[in-house]
Amino acid sequence: MPELAEVEYFRRRWDAGVGRKIVGVELHVEKRIFRGNDLATMHRVISGAKLIGSEARGKQMLFRFGKGGWLGIHLGMTGELRHEPPDFAAGKHDHLVLRQARQSLVFNDPRLFGRVLFHHGTNEPEWWTRLPPALTSPGFTLEKMQAFLKRRARAPIKGVLLQQECFIGIGNWMADEILWRAKIHPRRAAGQLSAAETREVWKAIRFVCSGALRIVSKDYSDPPPSWLFRHRWEKGGRCPEDGAELARATIGGRTTAWCPKCQPN
Ligand SMILES: [Zn+2]
Repeated sequence: MPELAEVEYFRRRWDAGVGRKIVGVELHVEKRIFRGNDLATMHRVISGAKLIGSEARGKQMLFRFGKGGWLGIHLGMTGELRHEPPDFAAGKHDHLVLRQARQSLVFNDPRLFGRVLFHHGTNEPEWWTRLPPALTSPGFTLEKMQAFLKRRARAPIKGVLLQQECFIGIGNWMADEILWRAKIHPRRAAGQLSAAETREVWKAIRFVCSGALRIVSKDYSDPPPSWLFRHRWEKGGRCPEDGAELARATIGGRTTAWCPKCQPN
């Protein structure tokens, strides 16, 4: 499942087409990633419109076009964006191809868990404005996070960090990284964290999200060896801080890694 930084990586791959006109739209209309859209209007509006820019919030991307056209793209499990030469022949899973004079912008999704949402209007689509603030933005405040944890007081903090209605874009490895940095055991109840511990979690969220956006989304590099990320997958992986062997269990329905020394229960 693509997380925050991976989504940002793919979003930037369409940057090559910003400021340029779409001269042709090709799509596999029968595919479920397009369900619920007025495809005739989408075709009419996007054809001949300029790609103006884009933004990602969590796993959701929004591309803005001229003529009041907007395309929301969610990558689902296996979706990818890329750019290709202008005359490239689309493959079986290239479900959306926007042709430009200098390149083709492609959305590929073999398993079809992704989603394309077309909107026509002067303002951003309503579903976009309803998304929670990005975790690296000033809108994501400690107070908002505290209130959210209170409402889920008995759930393990690991599971709560994966809830997208507050922690938009946080996926499994990022949640583990955050708790390791905040020195919180992943099974602790969200409502039992002290004010100081909650603050540490909030700070770790900002650090991990901005670090992941900077490092991973640039060229898909891994974070440095000082991150838990680099050790959590290895068998017998050790804590980069103290060398203790990492513990693993399923918490909140997901495989979780933590350091028993840094994160005592
Ligand atoms: Zn440790």
